[in-house]
Amino acid sequence: MLPNDSLTRRELLRRSTLVLTGTLLSADTILAGQAPASAGAANPALIEDLVAASRILAREGIVDAFGHVSVRHDRDRNRYLLSRSLAPALVTPEDIIEYDLDSNPVNANGRALFSERFIHGEIYKARPDVNAVVHAHAPSIVSFSVSTIPLRPIYHMSAFIGEGLPMFDIRQAAGMTDMLVSNGDRGRALAQKLTTKTAVLMRGHGVAVVGPSLPFAVGRSIYLELNARIQGQAMGLGGGVTYLDPEEARKVIESGENRSYERAWELWKRQVSGQR
Ligand SMILES: [Zn+2]
Repeated sequence: MLPNDSLTRRELLRRSTLVLTGTLLSADTILAGQAPASAGAANPALIEDLVAASRILAREGIVDAFGHVSVRHDRDRNRYLLSRSLAPALVTPEDIIEYDLDSNPVNANGRALFSERFIHGEIYKARPDVNAVVHAHAPSIVSFSVSTIPLRPIYHMSAFIGEGLPMFDIRQAAGMTDMLVSNGDRGRALAQKLTTKTAVLMRGHGVAVVGPSLPFAVGRSIYLELNARIQGQAMGLGGGVTYLDPEEARKVIESGENRSYERAWELWKRQVSGQR
């Protein structure tokens, strides 16, 4: 017996909807209606600082066309703010998207999302003390991510390295991959490696740097890259290298890490103001 024509059409429609749903969900977007509820508008000053952070990191060469910075939402600790997929130097307040901690967007409105946003969401879940996260492929840090030579604090500005930083090798966490932290499982594995530290190196990829605020996360990113560059140069001189003793590093931090980056933040913000 031939199938009823109208049933066949309905079945075809159902099947094409399923295919479409699968395509949309796998393509870094989420269907309208499934978006989590918004925590409400974030403080405009926080959005301005996030935009400035993005532009500062680009100006300092920590990020280029790739890399990103996020901040925890000031009205809900289970939400964070991150720009749409865009070169950091081009970010404006209109590009900022709100996410839940599973990295589902609240208000994407069809905009492209960073595939590695899970770095941010999973770190905010694991680290209640963290309110800002930077992910970068800063070149001198990448050198140390593939070397057996550990990155160590070379001067007082990078005392936050302490006794060293953990290394995340995505191959150990997820086997052979495209190297990207592009799902919750990989993000969780990265956050577990970070433990209580200020940053985690990512083998053959880059780094995730955290802080209690944007100035700390941005400042640490800048001085971590500088430390890597200086350490490489010092080692290249050929003699021995004297690093900060762990006790010296601890005393620097106890006396106020780089004066909470307040002076630097004022300068860096000024340098990127008027760029838009
Ligand atoms: Zn990356």
